[in-house]
Amino acid sequence: MHISEFQNLMREIYFHRDSKRGVKGTYDWLVDEVRELGEALKGDNRENLEEEFADVIAWVASLGNVVGVDLEKAALKKYDYKCPRCGQTPCKCTVYAFMSIRRSCPMPVSCQPYGFPPSRLTIFSSSQSRK
Ligand SMILES: [Zn+2]
Repeated sequence: MHISEFQNLMREIYFHRDSKRGVKGTYDWLVDEVRELGEALKGDNRENLEEEFADVIAWVASLGNVVGVDLEKAALKKYDYKCPRCGQTPCKCTVYAFMSIRRSCPMPVSCQPYGFPPSRLTIFSSSQSRK
């Protein structure tokens, strides 16, 4: 299934609700789902993790439908089989080129597997406590 097919599926199933809810309401749902994905990443429930990924994708598709953005077109326009910054596959950007993006990364997991220095990867500030 292509991204556009999934987005169309979400349109068929939910557009009547999504369009009434509007941009702000749909965006708020997406944010909640991303938060739930973050919680799932802290646990070890694989099924729950997969469900949360599915919810995030579904809400991104719904939001795209509400604002009229074709996700597949947009994704391939920016990520056209290569890194949009360095133009390479795999990406050859330096760690510090990434840090500017990753600094505000909401993921509740360390980016250490990607080789970033842990001291620069404090994802949550002390005011955003981790469970
Ligand atoms: Zn790159």
